[in-house]
Amino acid sequence: VTNSTLQSPDGTPEIFLEFTGTFSAADHPEVVLMSGGEPLLHAGLVRDLAERARRVGTCSYVLTGGYFVRRGDPTPAVAAALDAVDHVAVSLDPFHEREVPRDAVFRLLGELLRRGKDVSVQITAPPGDPYPARVTSELDRLFQGRVPALVVPLRRVGRAAATGLPVAPDTLAETGMDATAPAPCVMAAWPLVTCTGDVTACCNHHVVARPGRSHLALGHARDGWPAVRQRSLRSAPLRAIRLYGPQHVMAQQGGVPSSDGCRTCHALPRLPEFERRAEELMSSPVSEAMEGLLFGGPTCG
Ligand code: SF4
Repeated sequence: VTNSTLQSPDGTPEIFLEFTGTFSAADHPEVVLMSGGEPLLHAGLVRDLAERARRVGTCSYVLTGGYFVRRGDPTPAVAAALDAVDHVAVSLDPFHEREVPRDAVFRLLGELLRRGKDVSVQITAPPGDPYPARVTSELDRLFQGRVPALVVPLRRVGRAAATGLPVAPDTLAETGMDATAPAPCVMAAWPLVTCTGDVTACCNHHVVARPGRSHLALGHARDGWPAVRQRSLRSAPLRAIRLYGPQHVMAQQGGVPSSDGCRTCHALPRLPEFERRAEELMSSPVSEAMEGLLFGGPTCG
């Protein structure tokens, strides 16, 4: 709902409320994740979305940097939002710590646990930095395993792309893997509503910044969840990317994949007859059998 800059083109709350209003008991996502930027700058909206989601059986999750504990307890609006969501995740890294002290985050986690809330942390740091090991051992000591941590190395994406900090290898060439081997992209299974209401098939920052009209655009929040879900499930290009990964699809169609999966993915529509050939690939018995094995059946709904 925000990209956390003064230029943020924040959507109106109505976009997100109307979208959540199209969830029903019979057709709803299992979970809604609210992140940013800092979603709790819109605490009332987070609370309303979580409450609407719960009414139809959708769980809710919010990822926050914890700005509201810098000078004491959360405001009543933030406390109500934290109460409303099913899971609270807090970002912990050397960059957030310049603004929000680690002790204040630990106090928040302790208080949320005391109130019976599910919590976790997301930790990132440049490769080789001892920060993740230090923080996870502190978490274990303080909370005895009740605060799981997702630890990811700093990568060259989003705002981190321009920092000049050391980052983990993020291309197959850098990791030494064969770029044309099947490598499913699990991110293609997470429709994302941007702060302007555009819906994209994944959270890749280039796609989010300029969804345009591509195989990765799923329309607009005003189209409603059932339509977005059907587009995501039925799109042959997306099914192919979910099952084989963009580089294998590129090679299978006679193109030359780049060592960067997402860059290859953006280039797929430039292949001649890309969509028709993706349909052909996904209607093969092998693809249907593999979707059955991996996803319990064709993902085309
Ligand atoms: S490979 Fe394509 S679908 Fe997957 S994250 Fe990158 S841009 Fe998105």
